[in-house]
Amino acid sequence: MPTAADLDAAIRDVPDFPKPGILFKDITPILGDPELFKTSLELLAETAGSEKIDKVVGIDARGFIFAAGVAHILGAGFVPVRKKGKLPWTTHQMAYSLEYGEDVVEIHADAIKPGEKILLVDDLLATGGTAAASIKLLKALDADIVGVSFLIELTGLNGREALSHSKLHSILSY
Ligand code: AMP
Repeated sequence: MPTAADLDAAIRDVPDFPKPGILFKDITPILGDPELFKTSLELLAETAGSEKIDKVVGIDARGFIFAAGVAHILGAGFVPVRKKGKLPWTTHQMAYSLEYGEDVVEIHADAIKPGEKILLVDDLLATGGTAAASIKLLKALDADIVGVSFLIELTGLNGREALSHSKLHSILSY
């Protein structure tokens, strides 16, 4: 089975995307390779440890790809946290700051029952703004957040401090 080092080797760095100064971590070469994709899902699923997870929550949009696969491995449900205006039914909302302005994430009001054990998954931790807003949404639903797991962590942006979650895992850090 491939290792985290093989995932690292497959990630493509794209300078100045989507705007100047951003070094974009392109994970599509992992997704397109059956063995690498499987490994990425298995390593993320392992971050749950021995906890029985009820639902894996994925963050719009690349987080969905990983969270759905992890949910399948763990025998858990999948719940999407989406950008504003995409979910059809009653939602809870949380605003968060961007470099300029703000954005909003939403979750269906009935997506999680109080006390359910949740693993939150996204592709990449940068400043932590999106994940922090998602954690607030989950707490508002009285979820028991067992872990917060990312394939990639950009350590220079201090997202880990912004989240201050005791069970934060990343498979690769840069
Ligand atoms: P943040 O809220 O700053 O932690 O950023 C969260 C989201 O932005 C992540 O889920 C990524 O999908 C995306 N993102 C931020 N920076 C990068 C980057 N350098 N490469 C790829 N995706 C990024």
